[in-house]
Amino acid sequence: MSGAAHDFGFEHVPETDQSFENALAKARAGERLTVDDGVELITTGTDREGIDPERKELVLEAADRRRAEVVGNDVTFVANLNNNVTTACNTGCLFCNFKNTAHLFEADSDADHGGFTKTPAESRDIVADAVEMGIYEVTSVSGLHPALVLDEEHREILEAYDNPAAEVNYKPPEAYDTDPASYAEQLSAMSAAGAHVHSMTPEEAHHAKRGTDWSYEEVYRRLADAGLASAPGTAAEILVPEVREVICPGKIGTDEWVAGIEGAMEADLDVTATIMYGHVETEKHRVLHLDVIRDLQDRYGGITEFVPLSFIHQNTPLYDRGLVTGGASDDEDELMVAVARLYLDNVDHIQSSWVKFGNAKALKLLNCGADDLMGTILSEEITKRAGGGFGEFRSFDDYVDMITAIGRRPVERSTDYRTRRPIDPDDGPHGPTLGPRADGTPLLDGRRDPATADD
Ligand code: SF4
Repeated sequence: MSGAAHDFGFEHVPETDQSFENALAKARAGERLTVDDGVELITTGTDREGIDPERKELVLEAADRRRAEVVGNDVTFVANLNNNVTTACNTGCLFCNFKNTAHLFEADSDADHGGFTKTPAESRDIVADAVEMGIYEVTSVSGLHPALVLDEEHREILEAYDNPAAEVNYKPPEAYDTDPASYAEQLSAMSAAGAHVHSMTPEEAHHAKRGTDWSYEEVYRRLADAGLASAPGTAAEILVPEVREVICPGKIGTDEWVAGIEGAMEADLDVTATIMYGHVETEKHRVLHLDVIRDLQDRYGGITEFVPLSFIHQNTPLYDRGLVTGGASDDEDELMVAVARLYLDNVDHIQSSWVKFGNAKALKLLNCGADDLMGTILSEEITKRAGGGFGEFRSFDDYVDMITAIGRRPVERSTDYRTRRPIDPDDGPHGPTLGPRADGTPLLDGRRDPATADD
């Protein structure tokens, strides 16, 4: 456990009948790893206390070699914008400081909550503006606002409950300062300008079907009709029930998350997968999580990338209540990425998140098995509000400088990785070309000096 301040009495602890040497030999040979193999690699051997630096280097080397075999030397990134609709949420996950309790947003509340809710018109304007600047993708992940519904049919169903607030976490838009409208209206507004809309985690899809007997597939099909193009596999955290009971008891369970992602793929949407690690979980939980993802990919094949998200502990209830003393160490971050690369033999792309790690570590992780450096992120509320100190935007020139500095080739990509444009480092200044209005002009040209946009 990285920063756990308690013994949570977990059933799953890192003990195996495997040896580190055998597990490493299997990884090097490209054999499919078992959970025990993964535990040996991610702990650098359960026969030793703590991380063994020499063994760690062997694991990182094996992962880096596998990365080169699978995807070569390209480092990809996407021109994107974050446009989250609302921070209103009653779920109360203990690792989250993104949300604000929803009643603070009610029309008769005079609390200064510091959060926000956007109308579809506001979302449309924000995305249209960014599309004009050249972005390809908008990512949108929001709190579970009680007034948010899938569409008007869904609203009618929820309003027919005797006590919708208590039974199905629904309150009418009139109860709030700002009406977020429906998911369908928000997605339609964001897709209107031509951006690829990457939104609706399984948790949000669950909110979009609450109080009905609709399947996830049906919900995702309706969302796709409204403009959704792909779904982020966030809200996964750690897909092991005993961990979720500690960090997010109000959230959907592991089976429900898996059903949600399956529904998205059944609706022909690409999805991503994530892990949020470095809090109360053990190394065994991390590998069990990888096993869930690998199994999903075996059955459906629609996971485009895996994104390890290192827990940022500052300003979270988990930390404030003393349940954790910090997040993952650098060694743990490196091993998480490396073992993800080795374990997920059916997922091509492993992402290194500069928002979570900062530039230097994000680059280091590209030598531990990762091959994608996420996106430009013109706005990023979630990490900023949880205390991440790594700025909000990376220009194409920043990307080209960082990626060429480690001897790799920068490649602009689409969300699904199917469209890729290698970038000539000598042909600057660099800007996006894959978005509907992108013509190679640097993203913030004329708005703001990219040289001052860092951190
Ligand atoms: S992680 Fe999501 S569901 Fe949980 S409290 Fe935060 S915004 Fe709400």
